Amino acid sequence: MMVDRTGSSVAKLELHAPYHPYISVRIQDKYYSVDAACSNRADKFVHWITHFHFDHIRSSIAGGADYLLEQGEVITIFAPLDTTQVNGMSCFKLHEELYKFHSKGKRVLNPVIPFQKIPINNSMLTAIPLEHSFLNLGLFIEKIDTEFTVLITGDWKGSSSENQARIADLSPHLLVTECRYFEDSKYQETEDRFHVHFRDLKQIKKELPDTTIAIAHVSRTYRDVHPLVSKCRKEGFIFAKKVLFYNDFADYEILEEF
Ligand SMILES: [Zn+2]
Ligand SMILES: [Zn+2]
Repeated sequence: MMVDRTGSSVAKLELHAPYHPYISVRIQDKYYSVDAACSNRADKFVHWITHFHFDHIRSSIAGGADYLLEQGEVITIFAPLDTTQVNGMSCFKLHEELYKFHSKGKRVLNPVIPFQKIPINNSMLTAIPLEHSFLNLGLFIEKIDTEFTVLITGDWKGSSSENQARIADLSPHLLVTECRYFEDSKYQETEDRFHVHFRDLKQIKKELPDTTIAIAHVSRTYRDVHPLVSKCRKEGFIFAKKVLFYNDFADYEILEEF
């Protein structure tokens, strides 16, 4: 018998598209929007940028709620304090200006450093540095009074044992990670470009048998994602558009497939 459990879900994961870096997680009544569209509801939404690669910025510039803001009200977006110099300006400053310009001052970047802890919306956020070709800060979420922790990685070098150990130490209930390529022939290229290969995730899964792993942000070179979806399902990974999680965090329900 099909039972509608929607009302009792603890968390929800939502991706925009298989290739997109956009990730939105809800835990109880709070939302965590990572490299994703902005909302004007500061009491409900946290916005986070993992790193300043164009696909991630572009994704977070989307969302047209700015006009709903009261005068003087702003959308705060947490973003890595990337001090790489670009044309005599830090990478952070450059993007701070860019967001300010395009939102007429409504979107404000808030600098975050590695391992910084931010208490907000009944939750504790921790910035988890994971090595990538740019400074990348994953988001680790602990919601007060809810036993459901989530790590959203951003882009990271999957073959790095330091990265792997950092994720294993956190041992989240839900890990949402990029997965660029799947074929063995693509392993070297994936590693050289500081991205994640499916093989890296199979390795992590062995170390974290109790973690539910959802993948996101696969390469755009895959025209058809269905073979990838089956591959993931076979190995016990989630690759879907909308997923609900229940009290026993290993218990999930796919609401919408890609
Ligand atoms: Zn990147
Ligand atoms: Zn990316």
